[in-house]
Order: sequence, then C-alpha cells, then structure tokens
Amino acid sequence: MLKCENLFLKQGDFTLQADLNFPKGAVTALMGPSGAGKSTLLAALAGFLQPVSGRILYDSADLTHIPPGDRPISILFQDNNLFPHLTIAQNAGLGVRPVLRLKSDELARVAEVLEQVGLAGFDARLPGDLSGGQQSRAALARVLLAERPVVLLDEPFAALGPGLKHEMLDLVKRTLLTPDRTIVMVTHDPDDAKRAAQHVVLVAEHTANKPEPTSSIFASPPAVLARYLGTGMD
Ligand code: ADP
Ligand code: MG
Repeated sequence: MLKCENLFLKQGDFTLQADLNFPKGAVTALMGPSGAGKSTLLAALAGFLQPVSGRILYDSADLTHIPPGDRPISILFQDNNLFPHLTIAQNAGLGVRPVLRLKSDELARVAEVLEQVGLAGFDARLPGDLSGGQQSRAALARVLLAERPVVLLDEPFAALGPGLKHEMLDLVKRTLLTPDRTIVMVTHDPDDAKRAAQHVVLVAEHTANKPEPTSSIFASPPAVLARYLGTGMD
C-alpha cells in the first residue's frame, strides 16, 4: 500500500497536507481545481519534492528519503515522455534498463510490449514520426517495461482528442492495472475518472482528502467538487 502519513508539503508559499492511503490494484484519480496541488503531491511521491514533515511509505518501506530513481515508482507526464532522437524501441527499452543496447531477451520483451500497446512494427521510428496517440502508446510501453508497482500519471492523455483518450484509458486498465499495482492519475475530466478510476482523491483547500469510491463521490459531490464540476475546470 502506498501511504502518505501526516505529509506536509511546501512549494514557495503554497502548502498541502496529505494523510491517506492509495489502494493497491486500483486506479485512483486525483481531482481538484487548478493550482490545488495535484502535481505537487505527485512530485513528493516521486521524490522530486522533499516533504517538510511526514512520511511516504510503500508496504513496509519508508520512501521519504529515497532518491527518485530508487523508488518503486514510474511517472508519466503530459509532455516530454520520449527522447526525440531515440527510436521507439530505444525509448520503450529505457523502461527495462537505462542503456541503449539491451540483451536479446530484453529486446524480445520490448517487441512484445510494443505489440501489446498496438505499436508492432514501429520499433525503428522516431517519436516525431508518430501521431500524438502513438507517442502516448510508446510512453505507456516504457512504463509497462519498467514493471514498477506504483505508476503516477499526470494528465498524460489530456492533449489527445476524446476518442484517443478513451482508447488510452482503456489500454491503461487492460495492461497497466494489475492486482499488485497502484495507479494514481491526475485528471480534470470527471469522465476520465468514471471511465478508469475506482477511487477519487479530492485535492482542494490545501488538503489531499482520503479516497472515496468514484460512484459515490460523483453521486453526492462535496461542495468544493460540485463548485469545480459546475464551473469548468483546470
Ligand atoms: P495542480 O497540479 O493541482 O494544478 P500544482 O501542484 O502544480 O497544482 O501547484 C500548486 C501550487 O504550487 C500553485 O499555487 C503553484 O503556483 C505552486 N507551485 C508549483 N510549483 C512551484 C515551484 N516550483 N515553486 C513555487 N511554487 C510552486
Ligand atoms: Mg498539475
């Protein structure tokens, strides 16, 4: 279980508190107004922002002072997930090991995962030759190959049209979501949460709240969520 224990975060004048567990084997959507601290929370989980106080735990391990690369965590952003000068196979292969020459069994695994995300035959292409949707698939392939138990998604599909975004969300559910994995996905779109997330964490008023089942939070939204849903978001 990924756990924020009495976490207190500070970025400039901005503060955020978080005391919650992220369920394993599920997608949890992080929702809340723009500037509420969703990316700040992901930065702390990933190790890019050191908390002022509190701890970040995964199962029995205290991650609070572990460097980002040594955490059991992969992160996917909206942009800059791929290196433009590396092929799709090399970009995806970085998930296996941070080298450009993989062993033959590792290369076979890369090919298998590229096929799984619908990119069979794209191995030798450069990211610039791919559509936005295909680039998202390549970035997802790298995350799949990294096989980390925690995956953080910071609106990685927000720039795609609705059809492609749905395809990606369904692909995440089909490939990335396993009983042992914890997925935390920032989204400003309630339909994304309803489509892909079993739980919602509302981030608002300097607090990351405890997860609530997606169906119940939208059935009777707290005032701050209702305001945000009613007024156009992010
Ligand atoms: P969200 O992802 O929910 O839109 P962010 O976590 O990006 O919000 O930002 C939360 C707050 O932290 C904002 O008020 C933002 O201005 C502030 N902030 C973000 N990054 C920094 C930084 N590097 N230095 C100072 N303040 C920052
Ligand atoms: Mg953000």
